Amino acid sequence: MQFVEKKENKKCRKHHYVLTLKYLSDISDIRKMEGYIFDIKKFAVHDGPGIRTTVFLSGCPLSCFWCHNPESRLPLDADNSNRMVTSEEILEEIRKDTALYDESEGGVTFSGGEPLFQFDFLFDLLKLSKKAGFHTTVDTSGYASSEKIETIASVTDLFLYDIKILNSEKHKEFTGVDNKMILSNIKKLAELGKEIIVRIPLIPGYNDGDDDLKETAGFIKKIKGISHIDLLPYHRLGISKYKKLDLELKMKDIWPSDKEKIYKAKNLFEDFGFKVGIGS
Ligand code: SF4
Repeated sequence: MQFVEKKENKKCRKHHYVLTLKYLSDISDIRKMEGYIFDIKKFAVHDGPGIRTTVFLSGCPLSCFWCHNPESRLPLDADNSNRMVTSEEILEEIRKDTALYDESEGGVTFSGGEPLFQFDFLFDLLKLSKKAGFHTTVDTSGYASSEKIETIASVTDLFLYDIKILNSEKHKEFTGVDNKMILSNIKKLAELGKEIIVRIPLIPGYNDGDDDLKETAGFIKKIKGISHIDLLPYHRLGISKYKKLDLELKMKDIWPSDKEKIYKAKNLFEDFGFKVGIGS
């Protein structure tokens, strides 16, 4: 794959379109790489439009207190839930449900962990998926360099993009990383004209107060082209994994919010003019 030079006007959509063509014309250079995954979910209906296959790539640079996929944060080559596969093997699996994608206008979603953590593998999977004609979605925390985000964007139809909290100190305290890059990357994707659905985990006592939610809503409102938000209420389904993996569980005394509080948050975002879904 020939590396594409940065150009002064790379932010504009025209240049992005040229980049997309460039990547797709280099498709014969796809390396059929090896990478690590920890799950594949068939018939997924909450990870983008239609019926989808969701591939969960291992690895994540964040360490959110509430993570319900803690296996994704283990070292990739450890003897654990991660397994090594080739991108061709994954595509074979995805291809099995082509008829379902066609009927439902679905496709493939790459999630994690943080899928950009295995950038080369993800890029390979996305190129193969586009070559096969599938709609592609990337479910991301946005924590990656702007160059990587732009490269992935050239072969991604939809981003499911997490915004956890605007307050950078709280963000660092509860996820282990600063949110500067995350907030900048979502603006970049919007400038490129990419379709984005923002996902907000609602974590009791962390980011579900009115002030934090209003700050988040105000930030997203200023980004052109984003109209849809999914709220993801905190649940405890993944907590048994912490014990099994011998990881510290920092949310042991935090319990899911009641429906009233979740709908109050939904109304708040609707008041800002967003279409709001409640996911899981
Ligand atoms: S970004 Fe997602 S996968 Fe990574 S630690 Fe946070 S919740 Fe878990």
